[in-house]
Amino acid sequence: MSEVRELIIIGSGPAGYTAGVYAARAQLQPLLFAGEQSGGQLMNTTLVENWPGSKDGIMGPDLMMDMRAQAEKFGTQILDRHVTRVDFSSEEFKKVYVGDPSTSSGHVEYLAKAVIVATGAKSRMTGVPGEDRLLGRGVAVCAVCDAAFYRDKKTFVIGGGDAAVEDAMALTKFASSVTMLIRSDKMRASKIMQERAENEPKITIMYNTQIKEVLGDQKVEKIVVTNENNEDQELLADGVFVAIGHVPVTSLFNGQLDLDEKGYLMTHLNGTKSEVAEDVWLKGYPTMTSATGVFAAGDVVDFRYRQAITSAGMGCMAALDAEKYLTGHSVSY
Ligand code: NDP
Repeated sequence: MSEVRELIIIGSGPAGYTAGVYAARAQLQPLLFAGEQSGGQLMNTTLVENWPGSKDGIMGPDLMMDMRAQAEKFGTQILDRHVTRVDFSSEEFKKVYVGDPSTSSGHVEYLAKAVIVATGAKSRMTGVPGEDRLLGRGVAVCAVCDAAFYRDKKTFVIGGGDAAVEDAMALTKFASSVTMLIRSDKMRASKIMQERAENEPKITIMYNTQIKEVLGDQKVEKIVVTNENNEDQELLADGVFVAIGHVPVTSLFNGQLDLDEKGYLMTHLNGTKSEVAEDVWLKGYPTMTSATGVFAAGDVVDFRYRQAITSAGMGCMAALDAEKYLTGHSVSY
């Protein structure tokens, strides 16, 4: 049998690395699977200005490399490998597999007494031509992060949910124009957010309008949109913010852990179907999932806040919960 580790962490965003820092400092010798492109969503952003303690801001990739180095400094072993399968059916040993074509089974098995899942979420994209190619060069997914780069620019926001309105509002502080493209005849955003968008003079709302293509050589120059009569229109554009929701990275856990109706992992705190102590904050493990000894943190759980700092905070919580679980203490903070 393979060596049984105390803790495996899956994921390398702020939640995973923070869990690594805390778990390593608690002498749990965690093994962290970072995926083949480590660092998570912040690797796609530029200057992060709302990370507390970085008063001049910090570049997203630098922040993630610092977090990684900090986790490693305290003893987290990091492997840049993708987890391809998990088996959480045994309470004693959780099984985590990574693909390895050089082995006869095609994978390597790792065992741990506890696991922290921090696989994050991905922005849902429209998939129209040009979107992927110009991502980071005019196509963006986070206005809170990137709005300041669009001073006096023509910007568009795709989507009509709360996130799209928030993005549009953030852009009004900088951009010369902000146009929301709503694919149907109504917004999905809450009433109060809709009113905010409708009452903001800088925001134009185009209903029944769908993006068809993003055009530009080195950066976004134009977009093509189409209306309900299939009439196409070319519009000059500098920025296209895609805000059509997020997709949690949970396919690996289907059938193993409870997911909510949107596919996010459920924990004791947000109401897994497992039996949960009423006073979960005092006696239980708020970040534990429906499988005993498996914890979850960050955007894979949280569809509401989705900030680096809240993910990092949850990573810390999950590591503290895992530590208490592994040392068999009844929890009392
Ligand atoms: P939502 O799922 O609420 O909205 C997605 C929007 O994108 C809808 O308008 C949808 O249109 C549109 N859309 C989906 N796919 C496409 C596509 N392919 N092309 C064009 N448009 C598309 O996602 P959000 O990220 O806005 O919100 C997620 C959750 O987070 C919600 O519960 C929201 O309330 C919450 N949230 C809360 C905030 C707050 O309270 N301040 C801020 C941000 C989010 P359609 O309606 O036609 O499907």
